[in-house]
Amino acid sequence: MPARIPTALCFDVEDLVAPESDDAVHWMAEMLAQHGLTGSFMIVGEKARLWERRGRRDVVEALKKHHLAFHSTWHSVHPTTSEICLDRDFRDGIEALWDWDREGFADAQRILGRPLIGWARTGQSWSPSVMGLMGRMGRGYAYSLVRLPGHDVCWYANCLGFHGTGVGGFDATFVDDQRFEEKLAQTRSDIDAFQQADRRGAQWLCFFMCHPTRVIHSEFWDAVNFARGANPPRADWKPAARHDPALIPTMQRNFGRLCEFLRGDERLEIVGWGDLIRRYDGQRPSATHAELLEIARRVADERQVLFTDHFTAGEILLLFCRAAVAPAERYPRPTVYGPLTTPPTGGGSDLDAGDVKNAAHAVLAASDSGYLPASVTVGGRSLGLGTYFVALAEALLGQERVSGPADAPYPVAAEAVARDVARALPQWIIHPENMDLTLLLEQTRLQCWTLKPAWPRDEL
Ligand SMILES: [Zn+2]
Repeated sequence: MPARIPTALCFDVEDLVAPESDDAVHWMAEMLAQHGLTGSFMIVGEKARLWERRGRRDVVEALKKHHLAFHSTWHSVHPTTSEICLDRDFRDGIEALWDWDREGFADAQRILGRPLIGWARTGQSWSPSVMGLMGRMGRGYAYSLVRLPGHDVCWYANCLGFHGTGVGGFDATFVDDQRFEEKLAQTRSDIDAFQQADRRGAQWLCFFMCHPTRVIHSEFWDAVNFARGANPPRADWKPAARHDPALIPTMQRNFGRLCEFLRGDERLEIVGWGDLIRRYDGQRPSATHAELLEIARRVADERQVLFTDHFTAGEILLLFCRAAVAPAERYPRPTVYGPLTTPPTGGGSDLDAGDVKNAAHAVLAASDSGYLPASVTVGGRSLGLGTYFVALAEALLGQERVSGPADAPYPVAAEAVARDVARALPQWIIHPENMDLTLLLEQTRLQCWTLKPAWPRDEL
């Protein structure tokens, strides 16, 4: 029998307008617990503040039976996560996001009485900096837009990110018995398809249970207020259209049916998201010199910036540098972010291997800032980081004259990652049309120097 799929039951809790949505979260959290199921609730900071103001201890107590994560402070109120980062580099984006969300994060933790285990993407609002921020805080990131072929759980920006692949879409079905039954049947086969797909390393099934607010309303709370960049003052926020409260027993009955299905499905191992973060947040602590030489041979063959199953391109580069300046049997895994600006092109032919190795001192010194430099000076010539990466691999292999590709600013996988981001962000109804994503996408590619798959501890 195949291993059960590690599955997190995810809820996005975010309606800042209708108090009735508080009741929906409450009965869902209670019903889940009654069925012996652990949910993962992604909670908007201002929503927690509203519970405190409205005296909803009952909601908070019901949620404490589950895993709790942050869903930004304001969700769809502008500026969104992406909007804050649009005209900032990765580093400034982290600071700007934290300026905007620090209080909401602290308030939510205080009110909920639990540490928030990570940040779950709000709508289609994402930036590399939001993952950098969570990684810096030792937290995870859910519904990440970053993945690799066969790997839905990846390290990126030094943060453990869980791609949003999975099953779900129950929001509008609980209110209607027939739609619910159809959705449940569809989900059974979606899980089969998920199980059959080729996956390696750390795995999770994102079982998106619902937005509690959208279960009791026939439209989204934010679409009626904040669509396409609209940002009305709070006094003008209007509630979404609500279903007849007489239908709540129907919703509850169907939600209970879903809970029973989840308890009984042998294919699923239902866990809290925090359990998965702990299961997968290990990384190889070190690399041997022999292992580095093997990687160097691959780099010299492929002549491109690459990462391996266990080391990011940035980690490999710094490990190469250590091996060049102070060879040893084994080196600790370094931690570093990608460069903040695009590496220059050209200049990588016919280099002296001694000069290339010598330049490793400067790369190590520059990376003490926490960021890789975009360029490296070798024998008076300025080389792009990826050009240097390949030349250094050749130098480590003992060649006397070495070279690197003229144009290799990041790992090749960066283009696919940036394409996914470019597709996702404009799709969100809350985002204004024609957002200029140029800088955000380039920062996304540059942080692919920090990309690699994640693994369960026993596969490290
Ligand atoms: Zn949301």
